[in-house]
Amino acid sequence: MSLISLIIPSYNEEENIQNTVDKLTELLSKQSFDYELIFVNDGSKDKTYEKILEASKKDSHVKGISFSRNFGKEAAIFAGLEVAVGAACVVIDCDLQHPPKLIPEMVKKWEEGYEVVEGVKSDRGKESFIHRAFANLFYKIMSGLIKIDMRSTSDYKLLDRKVVDVLLDLPEHNTFFRALSFWVGFKSVKLEYEVEERQFGTTKWSFGSLIKYAINNATSFSTAPLQIVTFVGVVSIILSIGLGVQTLVKFFMGTAKEGFPTVILLQLLIGGFIMLSLGIIGHYIARIYEEVKGRPRYIIKEHTGNIKGNI
Ligand code: UDP
Ligand code: MG
Repeated sequence: MSLISLIIPSYNEEENIQNTVDKLTELLSKQSFDYELIFVNDGSKDKTYEKILEASKKDSHVKGISFSRNFGKEAAIFAGLEVAVGAACVVIDCDLQHPPKLIPEMVKKWEEGYEVVEGVKSDRGKESFIHRAFANLFYKIMSGLIKIDMRSTSDYKLLDRKVVDVLLDLPEHNTFFRALSFWVGFKSVKLEYEVEERQFGTTKWSFGSLIKYAINNATSFSTAPLQIVTFVGVVSIILSIGLGVQTLVKFFMGTAKEGFPTVILLQLLIGGFIMLSLGIIGHYIARIYEEVKGRPRYIIKEHTGNIKGNI
């Protein structure tokens, strides 16, 4: 009987843990495969870890690791993959917005020989208009940059052990799980699902953290923004040559006006381009700096003691 590991990143989810354990147990205990539920407490400020510990004492399928502070969902996913021992791993949100009923279907696809089963949102659930607009824009840009259609993708996916090992072997620290599972290749298939409503608690993303997530992911996956710098530079040179020619013509025709507004405008324009370019370059340097430091992606403070994989 094959073992399937479920990786469940959890940040301030005290109200959800027991409910999630119950729902998953009800579903998975009826299946033809064995399972382990690996909760990764991402430095929650509430009683999330206590709830995980409590559940793991009652049921040995429930396992948990706990970070020393909040390291983010990406780190939580990779920590879960690291300690999982299943022949395949499924990453699922703790709030069950990813409907668990898809898991048996994912496993079926895996048994048919697919190595990556992508959960794809057929509908984004009840998100605010702004959130939806930004998400669409982000995925459009990302899809263009990495040349893979990423719209409607999510972190809800099943990965074969081979794929998990490849992901864990990647040396980089700043990862983007959602895109990496495309990037590594392998035989994959998409399964559609409808996003459920969050049962308890609220979303853990603020607008600011989403923007940060978008910028980090875009720069971890593409160097195109650096090329934009060159492009913007070339455009501004062409513009200034055009403007120079126009000014000269006007000068010789004797219709030139006082040049003060043009100078200010040009300065603002060029200043803006330069600052934008420096910002983009600075961002990449910051990323290089973070990678070079080689600090661990997360720090595990404690665990439930029944983990079979690497700790
Ligand atoms: N999460 C996490 N660390 C964080 C933020 C979120 O592990 O810093 C987890 C969270 O507990 C949940 C999942 O990531 O299981 C998705 O988060 P959330 O439901 O808040 O995001 P949304 O569904 O609103 O996009
Ligand atoms: Mg959610």
